[in-house]
Amino acid sequence: MSSDTPIDIAPIDLAIAGGGLAGALIAFALRARRPELRVVIIESGAHAGGNHIWSCFENDVALADRWLIEPLIAHSWGGHEVHFPSFERGLPGGYASLSSERLDAALRAAMPAGDLILGAEVSNLTPTRVTLADGRIIEAGGVIDARGPGDMSALDLGWQKFVGLSWRTERPHGVAHPIIMDATVDQSDGYRFVYTLPFSASELFIEDTYYTTGPELAVDAIRNRIADYAAEQGWAGTPGDRVETGLLPVCMGGDFERYWRAASPGVAKAGLRGGFFHAMTGYSLPDAVRVAMRIASLPDFSGAVLHEEMLAMARAHWRGQAYYRLLATMLFRAAEPTERWRILARFYRLDPALIGRFYAGRSSLFDKLRVLVGRPPVPIGRAIHALGAHTS
Ligand SMILES: Cc1cc2nc3c(=O)[nH]c(=O)nc-3n(C[C@H](O)[C@H](O)[C@H](O)COP(=O)(O)OP(=O)(O)OC[C@H]3O[C@@H](n4cnc5c(N)ncnc54)[C@H](O)[C@@H]3O)c2cc1C
Repeated sequence: MSSDTPIDIAPIDLAIAGGGLAGALIAFALRARRPELRVVIIESGAHAGGNHIWSCFENDVALADRWLIEPLIAHSWGGHEVHFPSFERGLPGGYASLSSERLDAALRAAMPAGDLILGAEVSNLTPTRVTLADGRIIEAGGVIDARGPGDMSALDLGWQKFVGLSWRTERPHGVAHPIIMDATVDQSDGYRFVYTLPFSASELFIEDTYYTTGPELAVDAIRNRIADYAAEQGWAGTPGDRVETGLLPVCMGGDFERYWRAASPGVAKAGLRGGFFHAMTGYSLPDAVRVAMRIASLPDFSGAVLHEEMLAMARAHWRGQAYYRLLATMLFRAAEPTERWRILARFYRLDPALIGRFYAGRSSLFDKLRVLVGRPPVPIGRAIHALGAHTS
């Protein structure tokens, strides 16, 4: 094939650049709801989804939309726990973990042969054309850029960063539910907690997580800390095969319009590339589901219309995240790093339904006030300063 030959003569309605979480969910939604459309995914990896465990609370995803993620769920539980120096709490909400292996398998099953293009690096996008690094060109009615985080320099960010390790225990570990935050650990490097998922009676997935201002991640040192933590919990054992590292944006502010324009101007964007993430947690799964379902309901998939629709969704999402950006600002700018855990400890004493709405990004006005009133564990002068910086 010569370098400027179109890949296939059958017309493509939609080309999605990036077969990660957001791109795959859009494809699933369209295969189910709009099977008449030809959708092509172009992914640079040898498989879709990268190397991820994506977790969410049961109520993060609307009941009517759960079918979209069900085939991807590798583990689920009926409750979860948090541990702080001052208290432990079991919470009733269900929790589920999706795996990239399942996403890859589901995508291969859902996409007609040839429409999932793997090992292909996208080098340029326009609203109706994808150019690959090897020179091939894919023309489509519309294009979505779902290539994960792009240039984030327009945003004011802190980081939630972590190393996760699967851990095989010599004896049954006895952990029944995910411990989504154990903040009883040393806090000298910003807000730190350990996150543990019990995958089976003798297999855990343990993640050591830090909320810090800098993005650097000392992977080997953190792996050793995970082994130390497991030993302290009485979970004698050895690391398994799975290692995951994450550097998730925690957004305090910035110029959304500049972020949107930074990559592939005029092209519709989904997932992190489109700014669809929770400003406080960096998580994107609930938004990826909402966006995929919304796209599947659109009447027109032409590049320019898609861009306008998705830009409108992304702007609305950015506006809706203002409160979470404010909280992120208070966490990073108003609290001493070693005292940040107190903000989360106070939060986790609140009503479980309020906590659930917070993670789903659907806090009510009452929720927002409830989180802020009382005695915030940050000095009032600094809180006012952080608020001033946030709103200026
Ligand atoms: C280790 C880890 C764990 C996380 N856990 C959670 C979680 O539990 N819950 C949650 O909600 N969020 C989680 N997140 C945050 C966020 O939801 C994920 O990063 C999510 O995968 C983002 O989805 P996305 O589709 O925007 O990007 P990605 O899933 O990263 O997908 C982007 C895809 O584009 C491909 N790509 C990139 N460049 C090109 C190119 N030039 N050409 C072709 N393909 C390209 C990549 O290979 C990748 O497959 C996690 C993030 C990480 C890193």
